[in-house]
Amino acid sequence: MKDLPFLSWIELSPGNLRHNVRSLQKLAGQAAVAVCVKANAYGHGLPEVVRVLQEQAEVEYITVHALPEAILAREVGWTRKILLLGPLAKSEIDGVLEYDLEPTIFDLKTLSAVGRLATNQNKKIRTHMKLETGTNRQGITVDELPAFARVYQGNPFLGGPYGASMHFADVEDTIHHSYSTRQLKQFRGMVRLMHALGIPPKIKHAASSAAMILFENTRLDMVRPGIAVYGHWPSKETYLSYRLGGGQNDLFSPILSWKTRVTQIKKIPADSFVGYGCTYRTTSPTKLAIIPVGYADGYARALSNLAHVLIRGRRAPVRGRVCMNLTMVDVTDVKGARQGDTVTLIGSDGDQVITAEKLAAWSGSINYEILARLSPLLPRVVR
Ligand SMILES: *Cc1c(COP(=O)(O)O)cnc(C)c1O
Repeated sequence: MKDLPFLSWIELSPGNLRHNVRSLQKLAGQAAVAVCVKANAYGHGLPEVVRVLQEQAEVEYITVHALPEAILAREVGWTRKILLLGPLAKSEIDGVLEYDLEPTIFDLKTLSAVGRLATNQNKKIRTHMKLETGTNRQGITVDELPAFARVYQGNPFLGGPYGASMHFADVEDTIHHSYSTRQLKQFRGMVRLMHALGIPPKIKHAASSAAMILFENTRLDMVRPGIAVYGHWPSKETYLSYRLGGGQNDLFSPILSWKTRVTQIKKIPADSFVGYGCTYRTTSPTKLAIIPVGYADGYARALSNLAHVLIRGRRAPVRGRVCMNLTMVDVTDVKGARQGDTVTLIGSDGDQVITAEKLAAWSGSINYEILARLSPLLPRVVR
């Protein structure tokens, strides 16, 4: 990799991505797999990930949060279905037909606007009704259902709702799953009500990664995994619940590494301070490596004086505060460290590994946030 022309870059393994998708498809059984590519494909790079998925015919759907992500996915060649999870601005409604999207519906105004678009263009639009079951985020409540039913029944172009969906609030953070059971029960009750109101959904979907991995009865007609597609466990609790239930460890593996290069080496004496705020003081003569990565790139400031990076297969601790675009690391004990050396921020070097989960633990966050905040400006290299 010495010939890569970048100072900092993200490497992706398309082979692992394909393996993870196949593995989740196998777990999902008859249920379709809708791969979540929101947040720039969890920081991996939407264009790069979508191009790989496009070649994998069994992936019927991708899911995105917002219209610009859907437009980007179309631009890089995604030809199959797109489920839009988030809200649409008024000015974005036309995009539903222009980019052939299936919007999630949780408010009457949007449903009516989508209905008008369908009527004006004489086209059918597949909509998915998001049902409120206890996450108290974007769901339609039981009381609101009849009003939605009236809009659907007044507009033949909508052809009724295509999907009914829900989202679990409390699978990832616990090994006690009674709240999820209650939510699923509420969902089933609301779907029955949709039938009674004359708006039966054609497909039902509920599960993101954690639910689909742990509970067969949440898989329904479709699953919507995100983090697991990228080879990460939604949480320690999910991993534990899965393994205690007898699950094997080879379900998926990470596809992303983050690398940079040492741009400068400097030797400083004992009792020197390092970086903003003078938060680190050397106790002996120290060899520092400067790396061109900081919190603007997604290397959280909370990692200051806590994280390690890997250089020449050894661990080098971060000294002082992480700056906007620079970080200083201690290479006193890394034999031969010099300018131009490859630095691993996420990934492995020799027998050493730094995971997104480790960075999350160091910085008081979760792997989702570590990945989602990787700067979209970092070059992505698919190998
Ligand atoms: C983000 C999201 C998902 C995927 O969640 P993971 O935990 O990453 O699998 C699924 N469904 C909805 C509605 C989401 O917002």
